[in-house]
Formats: sequence, structure tokens, C-alpha cells
Amino acid sequence: MSFSTLGLSEKVLAAVETSGYTEPTAIQAAAIPYVLERRDVLGIAQTGTGKTASFTLPMITLLEKGRARARMPRTLILEPTRELAAQVEDNFNRYGANHKLNVALLIGGVSFAEQDRKLERGADVLIATPGRLLDHFERGKLLLQGVEILVIDEADRMLDMGFIPDIERICKLIPFTRQTLFFSATMPTEIQRLTDTFLQNPAQIEVAKNSVTADTVTQRIAASDSEDYDKRAKLRELIEGAEDLQNAIVFCNRKRDVATLLRSLIRHEFSVGGLHGDMDQRSRMTMLDNFKKGTIKVLVASDVAARGLDIPSVSHVFNFDLPIHSEDYVHRIGRTGRAGREGTAISIVTGKDEKALKAINETIGKELEWIGEPMDFTAAAEERKSRRRTARNDKSKARPRKVKAEPQETPEIQAVAVEVVPAGLEEQPTVSAAVEPQRIAEPQSPVRPRGGRRVAVQKDEAIFRNASHIPAFLLRGTRPKVQSR
Ligand code: AMP
Repeated sequence: MSFSTLGLSEKVLAAVETSGYTEPTAIQAAAIPYVLERRDVLGIAQTGTGKTASFTLPMITLLEKGRARARMPRTLILEPTRELAAQVEDNFNRYGANHKLNVALLIGGVSFAEQDRKLERGADVLIATPGRLLDHFERGKLLLQGVEILVIDEADRMLDMGFIPDIERICKLIPFTRQTLFFSATMPTEIQRLTDTFLQNPAQIEVAKNSVTADTVTQRIAASDSEDYDKRAKLRELIEGAEDLQNAIVFCNRKRDVATLLRSLIRHEFSVGGLHGDMDQRSRMTMLDNFKKGTIKVLVASDVAARGLDIPSVSHVFNFDLPIHSEDYVHRIGRTGRAGREGTAISIVTGKDEKALKAINETIGKELEWIGEPMDFTAAAEERKSRRRTARNDKSKARPRKVKAEPQETPEIQAVAVEVVPAGLEEQPTVSAAVEPQRIAEPQSPVRPRGGRRVAVQKDEAIFRNASHIPAFLLRGTRPKVQSR
């Protein structure tokens, strides 16, 4: 099938040709004619299927008639994250190259003033994250009565991020006569309720089962011990041993682990950058740009930051942690093997991941293949049990010898009990000096733990933590206080 049969305008077809696309993807072929007919559309499709162009191309065609008025955007696209919003803006710039469209992007982390100016000028296309859109609305800078087309993209992600009440509110602020295009990779009940309420007789298009991963992605798993330093070593081994690795995204479950892993990879001289939800907008965009340009080869990211990112050629995805929700696995590995390209996804599996792995295998409908020896989950569980037993025994042995709560000793006990962590890695789990001496030996300044108290590194610390030795000062007798009469 060719794009020319879908009803798109000549100018849009010319831009598509410039992009180098020869054939519409399944969702484009199915959705574009409905959008051009001004029907509501419910698209059940994951990212990587070409769904962005399935709404941007017909929208640009429809926008050729009419003009925008000040503070009254003609179309509104809601995206869950700033990155996705910026990507959609890129799409409009690319496919709208032959048009004079005013595109405004309303996202958090950038100043209101520039956004206000764009709204004032009149936006043909307004792309926004829900929170920032409502901020502008409440400041009286934005009128939503002129919106003819509303796009809600990545609705299930909006649900995960707690945006559904905002979405409902926004839907009610836009005239009932609008056209609504609604996209979601999955259809949980809350999303179904939303579509029942806000869509009118939608054309429903489902291009692939939500859990099916692209055939172009080779998926493997590799066993590792569950300690973080073992996982980091395993990850380095996998990156270094990967065939045809051009670049890679490494996913961690928690943003604090993004920081830890990033520092570790930097120390091992990888070309690496990080992406997580706490970074300001400018740093995120710079980081993404550097990754796209190839200035950095490895991007360590959290789910929130990386969901839906359109980076066309990512050769490898690594899961440093197996995701907690198996749906996230599908989204993560969807960062590679995009638009028919080949990709590889390798996940690290520890002894604690049996349930998570089972859920992923069920979600994708196949058993992931191991690289090397499979994880022996039974043995790993046994080992964990025995470690817990030993720790309990050690604890009970150590307890009676602890000199209890002598008020004058308190400051010293506190100083001893703190973790030794490299600056900036405050939340890192304890690293044993015996296992990774080079990490502890790094130049570092005293660190502030979460409570904000500045603490000194104490030489008895490692021994104290293992409870195999009681520091001398704890065994010292205490002098009774002389009472003054
Ligand atoms: P999306 O699902 O919208 O994030 O798009 C995934 C990728 O597919 C993006 O890199 C698009 O540029 C690309 N793409 C979109 N439509 C086509 C097409 N018809 N042919 C080839 N690639 C496409």
C-alpha cells in the first residue's frame, strides 16, 4: 500500500516522501482515513508502530483549512512526559515542513514566558503535558473552546503517572463537538471507562496485541548474583561481549540506581549518560541529543524518563533490573528494533527474580532464552535462607556484648554506625571494602546522609558492620559522674 491512497494532502505527501517512508505502517493505514473523516479513533498500539504519524499526518492535512486565534489553540495533544511531547513536536516540524504551522509546546521545567508568547500568537497545534496545560489554563492564558481535535496519547502511561483526573478535567473543558483521537498500548478498566465517557462512536484499531514484542528484537537473559556489584560486573561483561553494539539503553527500576550505575560505568570508562525523572528539562534534552548524535554510547535510564522515547536506531537494550511490572518489559525492549530494524534486548536475572521472570514470559508468550548457565532459583533461595540464618545468629551473638545506651557514648556510636559511601551515592547499598576496594578508595568528601547530618568516615566501620569485633571504645569502662553538691 502507498501513502497516496490514504487521502493525505499533496504537501503532507511530499514531506512523507522527504522522510524516506515508502509504505504506511499498519496503524497508519488503518487510522489515517478515519482521522481525515473526522471520526473519533481509539488506537490500541504500542510505541514503535508508527502511531505518532498516524495522527500527525492527517492532522496537518486537516489544519490546512482555517487559522489559529490568540490564546485559542485549534488542536491539543496530551502527552504523559516532556520527552514524548518534544518528540511529537519534532514530528510536526518534520511532516509540517511544507506548512506554516504554529506549534506550541507546554511542558514543565521551562519558563512560562516563552510559552505564553507562543499561545498569544495563536497555536495551530498545542502539545502539552497535563499539569503544565492546567497551570496555563488557571493563569487565564489559555482558552480551550477553540480545540477541534484532541489527542490523548499513551493513555495507560497517563494512568500509571496519576494523570487521569487531569485528563478528565481537560476533556470537560473542550467542546463536545471536538474530534478525539485516543491511543493506549493497553486497555485497563480505568482507561476503558475513560474512552466510554469521552469518545463518540470511535473507530477501534488494534494493530498488535499489547504484550507482543517486535519480532525484530532478539531477547535474551543472563544470570547474575543479586548483589549490585555482581550485577554491575555482569552488565559490563554483557556490554563488552555484545555483538554489533552501536549504542545501548540500560534500564534500572529506581532512579537512585540510575545514579549509582552511571558512576560505576563512568569509572570503568564507558561512554555513558543518565536519564531520570528528577533531571531538569534542559539536561534531559541535552542528554537525549548526545545519545541520538552518538556522543554517548550508553544511556542509563529509569522507566519514567524513557517511556515511549523515539530514538530510531538503538541497537541494544539492557535491563539492569527486571521491571516490576511485566508490561514495562515490553515498553523497555520496544526502544530497540524500531520500525523494522534489528535489535537486541538482554536482561539480567538474579535469584530473586523468579516471579518477575515468570510474569514476563507469560506476558510475551514465550520463554526467554539464557545466555550461558541458567539461574538455579531453588539453589539461590536456599542460599538466601542460609545467609539470613547466619546473619540472625551473628546478631544474637553480638547483642549481649553491646554496651547499652550509656548516654555519654552516644555520639561515638552514631559516628561508627554510618555507611561509607562515595559522595553522591548516599542511597547505595553497603559496599564491602573487601570486595571492591577501588570503589571505597575513591577520593571523596564527607557525605551528607538523607537526614542531612555531616558525618565522618570511621575506621572501625566495616568491622563493626560485620559484628565480628567490638570496637575498643565500647568495651572501655565508663567513669561515674561526680555529683556536685
Ligand atoms: P512511533 O511509534 O510513532 O514512535 O514511531 C516509531 C518509528 O517509526 C519512528 O522512528 C518513526 O520515524 C518511524 N516511522 C513512522 N512511520 C513510518 C513508516 N511509514 N515507515 C518507516 N518508519 C516509520
